[in-house]
Amino acid sequence: MADVIILGSMALDTIETPFGKVERVLGGSASYAAYAASFFAKPAIISVVGEDFPEKEKNVLLERGIVLDGVKREGKTFHWEGFYEFDMNEAKTIKTELNALASFTPAVPENYKGIQHIFLANIDPSAQLEVIKKLKNPGLIVMDTMNFWIEHKKKEVLEVMKHAAILLLNDGEARQMFQTTNLVKAAKQVLALGPEAAIIKKGEHGALLFTKGHHFNAPGYPLEEVKDPTGCGDSFGGALIGCLAKAKKHDQATLRKAMVYASAIASFNAEDFSLQRLKTLAWKDIEQRYQEFVSMRNF
Ligand code: AMP
Repeated sequence: MADVIILGSMALDTIETPFGKVERVLGGSASYAAYAASFFAKPAIISVVGEDFPEKEKNVLLERGIVLDGVKREGKTFHWEGFYEFDMNEAKTIKTELNALASFTPAVPENYKGIQHIFLANIDPSAQLEVIKKLKNPGLIVMDTMNFWIEHKKKEVLEVMKHAAILLLNDGEARQMFQTTNLVKAAKQVLALGPEAAIIKKGEHGALLFTKGHHFNAPGYPLEEVKDPTGCGDSFGGALIGCLAKAKKHDQATLRKAMVYASAIASFNAEDFSLQRLKTLAWKDIEQRYQEFVSMRNF
């Protein structure tokens, strides 16, 4: 049985970075997050794809043991088009074609009920609220979002936050959400809304963890080859919830370790386009990079 639910987008992405361009490749927050989580746990996706979604991409996820019973198929697949300039920390959106995502009402299959680790990855906050409602008795909820939804549906994003135990945002989104330049102040506002932890991702510079009375930061991995950072945030979130599901706890020490594993997986993801690098990743690569993180912090 699966032990992590991942709600998010499944997409065909068109991406240009200074190192190349790919068209209509597998992407979406749920695809990245589930693949990343699968190194630690057994994920089950809730999402929607179109009739045009290639069978071979579906098989990439199935072969990894990812459960797709909660993935609907209707209309056209969500298509995101973006580019990065030399500052690869910031994705610039050219086009967001929501397609099937626009009218998507998520359903929670019977065999997902009872799963205790939920990742509400980046998707319409109305869909996130719907899943919370349908789960009735959800366990640990980790939530992510993005600037698009903060801009268009801030009220709903705030509502979802009240149900989350752990909130993930990147630094730009935290500033946008809480109208402050100061990340410590933004994190305080998150904690005042209800979550026990706020994790603020800072792209290549790592991630900050704020809980009541504690602060931790995981460094970014000094990567020499960054081809495409798309999905780094999602794979960070997926790896994080996967680690927490594996540990079956989320105390301070577990959260810190999970953040370092999540940073390791996210750094691998940036090494190639789409899910290419995650597909070739072996457990020993992850463990080796985790140990490098440990020694990077040794002084
Ligand atoms: P990340 O780089 O981790 O922030 O996420 C990149 C992924 O998010 C891409 O694969 C996109 O398909 C997906 N994405 C982009 N815009 C949206 C959106 N508005 N809602 C949900 N997913 C999106």
